[in-house]
Amino acid sequence: MTQVLVIGAGPTGLTAAVELARRGIAVRIFDKRDGPSPLSRAVGITPASIDLLTPSGAGPAIRSEAVRFDAMVMHQGADPILTLPLNFDDRSTVYGLPQDRTEAHLIDALARCGVTVEYNRPLTNYHVHGDHILADFGQHIHIEARYLIGADGSHSRVRATAGIHFDGHDLPGHWSIADVMSKTWPHKDSFAGYMLPGGEVAVVVPMASDRYRVISSLPDALKALPVTMEVDDLRRTSEFTIQVRQAERYRKGSVFLAGDAAHVHSPVGGRGMNLGIADAADLAARIAAGDLEGYEDTRMEVGEQVIHGSERARRMIQSTGAAKLVFQTAMRGLNHSESAKHAIVHQLLSG
Ligand SMILES: Cc1cc2nc3c(=O)[nH]c(=O)nc-3n(C[C@H](O)[C@H](O)[C@H](O)COP(=O)(O)OP(=O)(O)OC[C@H]3O[C@@H](n4cnc5c(N)ncnc54)[C@H](O)[C@@H]3O)c2cc1C
Repeated sequence: MTQVLVIGAGPTGLTAAVELARRGIAVRIFDKRDGPSPLSRAVGITPASIDLLTPSGAGPAIRSEAVRFDAMVMHQGADPILTLPLNFDDRSTVYGLPQDRTEAHLIDALARCGVTVEYNRPLTNYHVHGDHILADFGQHIHIEARYLIGADGSHSRVRATAGIHFDGHDLPGHWSIADVMSKTWPHKDSFAGYMLPGGEVAVVVPMASDRYRVISSLPDALKALPVTMEVDDLRRTSEFTIQVRQAERYRKGSVFLAGDAAHVHSPVGGRGMNLGIADAADLAARIAAGDLEGYEDTRMEVGEQVIHGSERARRMIQSTGAAKLVFQTAMRGLNHSESAKHAIVHQLLSG
């Protein structure tokens, strides 16, 4: 019998599988897609994630391919009002890499442990029988395991089958994304955020040499920018909605939730993938140690903090009227204090 079944081969499921496999735990990982996703949602990777992924070799591989942000520059319209420097110590680096490349490095690390992702395997149901789980993948495929990890994203089948509520709300409206190539964009190594009239926002994030991700709360990310961006190649446009939700529990007996299956929030702060990687690394270490008691409490508390922090930041960035004025005045004031700016960066990247 396999010890652990991981459902979902996004960054969370891959991290769980890698961290179990490198400790010699028998693990199988399944995904309903027919192969690795070519799409990238997350870009920003924190030093904490790199540290967690270092023993498997995935961390150094990600770090050597990723771009390294120099600064985060916030603008009111087109005017810069706050520059947060990065790279001033080993906890203040943000790496940028398209999510599909991060996943590719995790898949390589998994292969080094002799495990491959089993694609075209959608979990349809599972049943708990005493101390083991029988997972059903349709077409008469049933697999037995001691533990089941639901790393199957925000619409988690594992969570639904366990009857675990996903409490929270959906934010109104659609956000837009454009992935572009631009040789002339001036902020080659900086994250650039733009606060626009009416509480709207736009950001430009470097992903690779001359490649950028533009995101906005307005329907057309490129048109939303208050400055001109010369686009040499428009690789992809897309849109997404934002949910702010957390599972009411992360564990039901031998079934565990991690990553977006357990929590979702806005991309402000760029924490979702990093949080999922941390959940998965924690859970794998506990399974290997045979000490699972603390997983739910520990990770639910961290998840709650990240969701609140991300929502607080989003509300400030999207504030209007007097609240916006206060927030922008405070931002301008921060420019004069290096120690305050360093503290904010550490806070943004903690965990
Ligand atoms: C625009 C945008 C920008 C973002 N930027 C950042 C960022 O900069 N930094 C950051 O940390 N986060 C960011 N995020 C969030 C990040 O993308 C997610 O938090 C992350 O992808 C979650 O990983 P996951 O593995 O938990 O879930 P997912 O990536 O959703 O993976 C779930 C996997 O499960 C599979 N699956 C689903 N159902 C089944 C089933 N029944 N059977 C088998 N397989 C199944 C799916 O095919 C999928 O491969 C961003 C999100 C968005 C939308």
